Amino acid sequence: MLGDRIMGALHAFFRTERVWNSPLAVNVEPTTGCGLSCAMCFCKKDQAASRFMEERVFQLIIKKLKPDVVEFSGAGEPFQHPDLAEFIKYADNFSVDSIVQTNLNCGAGPLAAALDAGLAGLKVSVDSADPGRYALIRRKGSLDQVAANLDFIRSRPGPKPRLSLESVLINQNMGDCGGIVDFAHRHGVASVNFHAIQTVGMNEETRKELIDDFNFPGLRLSLAAALARAQDLGVQTNIQKLLDDFNTIVDIYNRNENISRSASCTLPWMHLFVAVDGNVSPCFSLHCHTGVASGNILENSRDQILNGPAIACIRRGFRNKRVAKVCKECNPPQLSSIFFRKD
Ligand code: SF4
Ligand code: SF4
Repeated sequence: MLGDRIMGALHAFFRTERVWNSPLAVNVEPTTGCGLSCAMCFCKKDQAASRFMEERVFQLIIKKLKPDVVEFSGAGEPFQHPDLAEFIKYADNFSVDSIVQTNLNCGAGPLAAALDAGLAGLKVSVDSADPGRYALIRRKGSLDQVAANLDFIRSRPGPKPRLSLESVLINQNMGDCGGIVDFAHRHGVASVNFHAIQTVGMNEETRKELIDDFNFPGLRLSLAAALARAQDLGVQTNIQKLLDDFNTIVDIYNRNENISRSASCTLPWMHLFVAVDGNVSPCFSLHCHTGVASGNILENSRDQILNGPAIACIRRGFRNKRVAKVCKECNPPQLSSIFFRKD
């Protein structure tokens, strides 16, 4: 609702301890299970035991929190949940848009069910357009399967979900930005977003593998070539924005501790993350790395969840510029970039 967005933005601007608005977006973790083992995944400990959100938990999220949009993502692959299509249908009955963030290595059956249920958007993780390199990054994954699923979506009659490819920038795909744009165009995907990898909680071994001795000039050239290619093909990208703010990537990858980007974060006022067991946090990073919960959807009232002591303390921390270590290291997403909308 427009009123919630305006009120949420005002609360975020003034760093209030309470909010009166519903969250604009709720990030729901339907499962902690995933068939892949990606190089950059920091959720592997959660995947050791695959858990699945109960239907009643999801229904309470929609009824209690009343978001505009739910994005299914978290420590696992959403399409592994056998009832994902039911969740999407339930949300659609309340006019809540569903977006799935996915590796899209699923079979056509679950995908078709989600499309039939009214899926509004798919954000597909593709970090290389070379099948061999893709398999090295998204271990146990298959780029051919992703391509087949995208072609399946394109071939279906009727309304289509909005599609984007999401790519993290790491050593392994440095020269592949243009190839990813080509791949998007070939398979009917209208937009591609490249991202600095989230380094919060990244261990040294992973850091060494993914971003040590990073070739920044090489990345700049690769992005510039991809931008020209995207303009030729009519594919939308965020590349110009990344190039304009290139030092952000340099600072994040070089661990420049003097720069904290948390001042731009609006999530504690406009966004919630709900884990598979119903625990609620402002965002996935805080849930994953601190275990902080502002309540549980099964046990607490709407007001306790939106304005309980834990989340009020986090908001107060932002106001007083005394944020958690996770927030200091975080490159917070902008809500507009997390949840694309129909309108
Ligand atoms: S697809 Fe996502 S959840 Fe699965 S291993 Fe890769 S990063 Fe982790
Ligand atoms: S971890 Fe990042 S996204 Fe989450 S509240 Fe802190 S700064 Fe915002």
